[in-house]
Amino acid sequence: MTSRNRDGDHSLGMDRPITRRQFINGVSVAVTGSLLSSPWLKAYGVPGSPFQFAPEKDPGYYPPALTGLRGSQEGAWEIGHAMRDGETWDAIGQEADTGESYDLVVVGGGISGLAAAYFCRKAAGPQARTLVLDNHDDFGGHARRNEFKHGNRLVIGCGGTVYIDTPSSYSPESIGLIRELGIDVNRVYQYFDDDFYSSLNLGRGVFFDKETFGVDRLVVRGDSTLAEFAAQTPLNPTAQKDLVRLSEGKKDYMPGLTSDEKKERLTKISYRDYIRNYVKVDPQVITYLQNRTHSLFGAGIEAAPALDCWGLGYPGFQGLNLEKGPYPGMSLTTVPRGTPGEPYVFHFPDGCGSISRLLVRALIPESAPGNTMEDIVTARLNYARLDEDGQPVRIRLNSTVVRALHRGDPQSAKEVEVTYIRGGKAQRVRAKTCILACWNSVIPHLCPEMPEKQKTALVYGVKVPLVYTNVMIRNWTSFQKLGVSSVSCPGGFHTGFSLDIPVSMGDYQFARTPEDPMVLSMIRTPCSPGLPLREQYRAGREELLVMEFETFEREIRDQLGRALSTGGFDPARDIEGITVNRWPHGYAYEYNSLWDPIWPEEKQPCVIGRKPFGRISIANSDAAAFAYVNPAIDQAYRAVQEVLKKA
Ligand SMILES: Cc1cc2nc3c(=O)[nH]c(=O)nc-3n(C[C@H](O)[C@H](O)[C@H](O)COP(=O)(O)OP(=O)(O)OC[C@H]3O[C@@H](n4cnc5c(N)ncnc54)[C@H](O)[C@@H]3O)c2cc1C
Repeated sequence: MTSRNRDGDHSLGMDRPITRRQFINGVSVAVTGSLLSSPWLKAYGVPGSPFQFAPEKDPGYYPPALTGLRGSQEGAWEIGHAMRDGETWDAIGQEADTGESYDLVVVGGGISGLAAAYFCRKAAGPQARTLVLDNHDDFGGHARRNEFKHGNRLVIGCGGTVYIDTPSSYSPESIGLIRELGIDVNRVYQYFDDDFYSSLNLGRGVFFDKETFGVDRLVVRGDSTLAEFAAQTPLNPTAQKDLVRLSEGKKDYMPGLTSDEKKERLTKISYRDYIRNYVKVDPQVITYLQNRTHSLFGAGIEAAPALDCWGLGYPGFQGLNLEKGPYPGMSLTTVPRGTPGEPYVFHFPDGCGSISRLLVRALIPESAPGNTMEDIVTARLNYARLDEDGQPVRIRLNSTVVRALHRGDPQSAKEVEVTYIRGGKAQRVRAKTCILACWNSVIPHLCPEMPEKQKTALVYGVKVPLVYTNVMIRNWTSFQKLGVSSVSCPGGFHTGFSLDIPVSMGDYQFARTPEDPMVLSMIRTPCSPGLPLREQYRAGREELLVMEFETFEREIRDQLGRALSTGGFDPARDIEGITVNRWPHGYAYEYNSLWDPIWPEEKQPCVIGRKPFGRISIANSDAAAFAYVNPAIDQAYRAVQEVLKKA
């Protein structure tokens, strides 16, 4: 589905003055141009001395409130790409040496990097000097928040990481950290109103678009049976019947095979091929289900192993009578974990953005008021306090690391020199130890002296590109009229959208009445079905970096306008703000039985890649090939144990 016709721009509201476009157009440009296009550089100019650039000290510096293209924002990625393309910063003069020396320098201020700083301070004591460097204008990596204002009312959205997923599956170290930050996951049950939307008779809907299905039609699932639902869709009669047949899944489509033999075969075929060649559904059912796997796999059902889809409870497998439990080659995401039946409710109004905020407050108490998991929700972080002289822990944003080199032979060196680009100039610090909590693919560029085998292993995985868009709407009466709280869009630019998660915490109240302003969450996964999986991810990343905000905006307005039109939604009138969180380097790459060998653990690229190298250790979720918060923390813990031995 796509709205190419700009004649309708006026009715979509493209000319309306909403909060948007402060940051526009992440167009790939040459290094100099890109540096100058960084919003913070535009605002603060290119200073003569490398140390004069300090936008974070401005009282108005508050990245969560920025709208437009966020996530990997303009100015955050260009240096990294120039480094990838061979740009070097070898001719750095002495003036770039900050003279600073740390016990630990952490590259990457996501949950893993912040957790590494936390564990290090806990083990080494409060006097340990730590510097965290991150290329973005905000901390938290994927675990970030977006803020909007409606009059004086603060409306919070989640910019990336949403849930503390199955906390009962967390390791002692990761759940221990969560508890030490003051998070009592059980208290979330009180704050999360699980029945809120159903109590208003709002449920799920599906929007069929005319480009894909011949007609624009929103079909509300409500209390109807699947057969009743299917009958209302524009699918042809055979597809309607097949949808029901697939869902009932009564038949054994692999007769004569044992459970293990079936599982073995299902690891090697995609879900699409299973339902096409074994269940033999009408092609329209495949079109209908094509993007069902996008939000987890970042790709369609042709790239998702059938066995993983069985693990996720997708339809069509009941008659196979597969034995419960994991099977070699299943993705870590689909293997059951935690206490069975554990609900999916553990998050703050900003998703896991508050975990990052709590970590920052724990590391630098002056950065935010308060001391509870509730008061962090509305606390305004003081970015000016993140990087101050004399503080044992400093967080330096807008700083892209381009080198982490031992001073001398990596096996005997006593120090690592870390060089980063900030405000368009190179700066250098020294550290007794260094943890790279950035993405695996970046590490070989930072450490060219690393063994080739390790570098090859580090670049094996390709992170999954995806977009989390937040749209601030002035009210949600159209949803109430239509009886939906979430809508999936099988042919949509965004694969679906939903009303915000109903969680109130501390002073923050979610929008209880349909007349209240609300944040809509939308997900987009740029896929290229037909390409090998990792190529799809690379292509999606490129697409995200060149797509202009205006294109996102037009698609968002068109999609919402058409899907909700019968409820009276008017995109020109009802949309008050848009924040597109693009994550070209999103989820950590998880091994997939269709596309990767089934390695024993010690042969997995992530295990080979995360070996310590001299005084440098490696954290981040890529090091576990597992795209969740807990591996990010676990890898930080391991990396800290490694560097403590070197300190
Ligand atoms: C949209 C989205 C939704 C998600 N939802 C969930 C969820 O609901 N539940 C869950 O458990 N997990 C979820 N995840 C996964 C989870 O967010 C991650 O596993 C976790 O946050 C990763 O943390 P990290 O610190 O390892 O990496 P990141 O968050 O990526 O942090 C790494 C940081 O290093 C920085 N960096 C990279 N290179 C450099 C450099 N050269 N110099 C300086 N800095 C650099 C990066 O820009 C980044 O800020 C989601 C991920 C995404 C993208």
